[in-house]
Amino acid sequence: MSNLIKAVRGTRDILPPDTALWQHVEKACRDIFHLYNFHEIRTPVFEDTQLFARGVGEETDIVSKEMFTWEDRPRAQSEKAQSLTLRPENTAGVVRAYIEHKMGDTGKLQKLYYIGPQFRRERPQKGRYRQFYQIGAEVLGPVAAGSESPARDAEIIAMLAHLLREVGIKEWTLHVNSVGNADDRARYNQALREALAPVKDKMCGDCQRRAETNPLRVLDCKHPEDQQYIDDLPKISAYLGDESREHFNEVKKILNHVGIQYHVNERMVRGLDYYTRTTFEFTHGGLGAQSALLGGGRYDGLSEMLGGPKAPGIGFALGLDRFVLALQAEETVAAANLNPAVFVAPLGPGMNAEAAVIARDLRKHAIAAELGDDGFRVKKSFEAAERAGAKFILFVGENEVASGQFAIKNLGSGEQVNVARAEIVNWLKS
Ligand code: AMP
Repeated sequence: MSNLIKAVRGTRDILPPDTALWQHVEKACRDIFHLYNFHEIRTPVFEDTQLFARGVGEETDIVSKEMFTWEDRPRAQSEKAQSLTLRPENTAGVVRAYIEHKMGDTGKLQKLYYIGPQFRRERPQKGRYRQFYQIGAEVLGPVAAGSESPARDAEIIAMLAHLLREVGIKEWTLHVNSVGNADDRARYNQALREALAPVKDKMCGDCQRRAETNPLRVLDCKHPEDQQYIDDLPKISAYLGDESREHFNEVKKILNHVGIQYHVNERMVRGLDYYTRTTFEFTHGGLGAQSALLGGGRYDGLSEMLGGPKAPGIGFALGLDRFVLALQAEETVAAANLNPAVFVAPLGPGMNAEAAVIARDLRKHAIAAELGDDGFRVKKSFEAAERAGAKFILFVGENEVASGQFAIKNLGSGEQVNVARAEIVNWLKS
């Protein structure tokens, strides 16, 4: 059997009954998003590689190491092959679509959400996969529509606390930070560059390179030996200008006011270059090393970096895989019961057609039904009903059809009753 084909490293099949938990999270998210006036957007799974190089940043781990990139076949021999990439995240795609469809011309805030697979060539481990699933939302638009307001930041964070409650995840911690605007970032990068100059030679290869090209990304370093140097680096808060500081203070003030607890974490600069001002992350203690449930932040310059109009925005992406792991770790939510309510068991030759009609009527009345087979004996029908997880078994034999009275047995309590054909739906519903 050595030539069996298996799912590729870092990818996996998600099977029932786990899929019920996935659907539970997806449904809770859609319900919450609609309460906050977000609408769904679906962007392509692959994009021009330049979108991520320019949007996410050349020096980030994602772009420099983790993308699935290939050259498309040129349409004509004279043409240059286009470089394409499986999306490693969805914000850049959403902002590209915003620009491409001139969504800013409406003059209003765009509140968009997405659900879908993302791809990063990371080292697979629990909670970290090469194909993983994100649910995210973005608020962006012209400044006049309020896109820059700290009220947006606080609302999206409050929505996430609401969403976690709705999903049923309790043990989360919220970390917030401000990485400043472009000017603050430039000053902070310069300070980092200077502070790194005397120590960078003792640090890992990535840090040595980033200390020159994009010092902020040094803060993403996970090498244990480098942490002593990183801990001594200047803190971003000392480099925030008045505008960024006031913006951040206002976000914190609203969070305090609506009763959402947070920790200010100055190391949290998030691994993508487009972030400005507010960044945040929700972590969960039950997830092990990959503790981030979700992350997000503001990206006031992203639209312009991609050649679009000024369109400040803020968004987040949550890891659906990790939400499911957190639910399983907390063991609080019983998986939604998607088992059929009734197993319809034809008894004896020729009864499949009668049973099919009864099953059709049940399903028409929103009662989930599973069908047996008239080749089954009574014992086998019971076994099949148990295996399907049905609550009731309903027998359809010649006698039942002739008398119009059908035996229904509650598989939990063992109680059995005879119910007239016309009463079956009502009886089951009550
Ligand atoms: P990011 O786009 O890196 O800010 O990630 C946002 C969220 O997506 C994280 O907090 C995780 O929950 C999830 N995530 C990111 N990368 C992976 C991965 N390789 N496997 C599973 N989930 C991931």
